[in-house]
Amino acid sequence: MNAPPDTLVIGGGLHGLSAALNLARAGRHVTLVERSWLGRHASGATAAGVRTLNRDPAEIPISLESMEMWRRIERIVGGDCGFHADGQLNVAERQGDVAKLERRLAAMRRAGYTHEELIGRDELLRLVPALSPHCAAALVARNDGAADPHKTLTAFRRAAEAAGVAILEGTSVRAVERKGENWVVRTSARDIAVPVIVNAAGAWAGRVAAMVGDDIPLGVKASMMIVTERIAPLLKPVVSVVGRPLSFKQSGQGTLVIGGGLQGSADIDTQRSTVNFRELAKGARAAHDLFPAIGPVRIVRTWAGIEAKTDDLLPVIGASPNAPGVFHAFGYSGHGFQLVPVVGAIVADLVVRGGTNRNIAGLAPERLMNRQEAA
Ligand SMILES: Cc1cc2nc3c(=O)[nH]c(=O)nc-3n(C[C@H](O)[C@H](O)[C@H](O)COP(=O)(O)OP(=O)(O)OC[C@H]3O[C@@H](n4cnc5c(N)ncnc54)[C@H](O)[C@@H]3O)c2cc1C
Repeated sequence: MNAPPDTLVIGGGLHGLSAALNLARAGRHVTLVERSWLGRHASGATAAGVRTLNRDPAEIPISLESMEMWRRIERIVGGDCGFHADGQLNVAERQGDVAKLERRLAAMRRAGYTHEELIGRDELLRLVPALSPHCAAALVARNDGAADPHKTLTAFRRAAEAAGVAILEGTSVRAVERKGENWVVRTSARDIAVPVIVNAAGAWAGRVAAMVGDDIPLGVKASMMIVTERIAPLLKPVVSVVGRPLSFKQSGQGTLVIGGGLQGSADIDTQRSTVNFRELAKGARAAHDLFPAIGPVRIVRTWAGIEAKTDDLLPVIGASPNAPGVFHAFGYSGHGFQLVPVVGAIVADLVVRGGTNRNIAGLAPERLMNRQEAA
């Protein structure tokens, strides 16, 4: 029960928790360290859309597997994550946008994928009657949906603790040194010696990577969100729009949750993010254009969450090429919530079996490191 850890997970977001859970279930003695509190950054700020729709081809195999896992998430984590599969739609307002959706669909079919479907105005308005009738068509992934980020954090935390993970909040990793077969991780609380480290430090993962000698360039995102007062039931699917900064859904409590990637600003040194209200107004405008029937509705909260962004907007998942026993899982670039269940399983594969059957060929850390060396 109190065996010293053989695996240290750095970062108490959902990816750190999912990795820790899967590793503990695979027999590892896992300690997770989180500088602030679980879910302090992207995993607590997220819109929690569970989306396979419009994924980059490099992510589709693991995203589809993750969706299968979301469908049985309560059995996996033993708790409610607030997941509902009412679909996600990417709406085309104009005929030119419909052509874009047709090209995307053709590319998906050529690659053998059938999870995306093109629907015309009648079916679109049947699925989302509140949508403005000027909308022409949409790409839909009917099994997609959304979850509740806070219920998800609680469920993953409880499952990880039940599996034996020791969670140390308020504990920051400051340096990592190699000593014999182990890494000595110097934290704000104490030194921890382990042979295996999982770097799930979100926007700060580039700094953790640098501590073990991996130079992986990372940008930062500060995606903003709006939540309104509660209104009567309006729609079930999640709606995004071609060429507009909008992701729109209604929570189980009736609030409208509006995002879409509009950017505020973030300072990763101070760990603070700032909402840019001028930019945010574009999201509110797009929501009003698409759902004019709603009328005036009060905004009750806005925020911006900090998250890492890679050059190709794909995550970094894999073993360090330089540092034995170090595994990276970060850089989700605004769409990592959906991948949480599967990436935890992948990290456990990599650590415990030394490899994985899952297709992560396009996500290796080397692709960003090599790119930098070549520049
Ligand atoms: C506003 C917003 C909306 C989003 N909407 C969606 C969506 O609809 N669908 C979707 O799929 N994805 C979405 N995402 C993305 C998704 O939320 C993230 O990809 C995911 O939560 C990343 O989880 P993480 O565990 O990698 O990072 P985080 O949750 O940021 O966790 C990393 C943790 O590491 C800790 N840490 C960092 N450095 C150290 C250190 N030195 N020592 C100890 N701890 C450290 C941090 O404190 C932090 O808590 C959204 C993100 C945001 C911000």
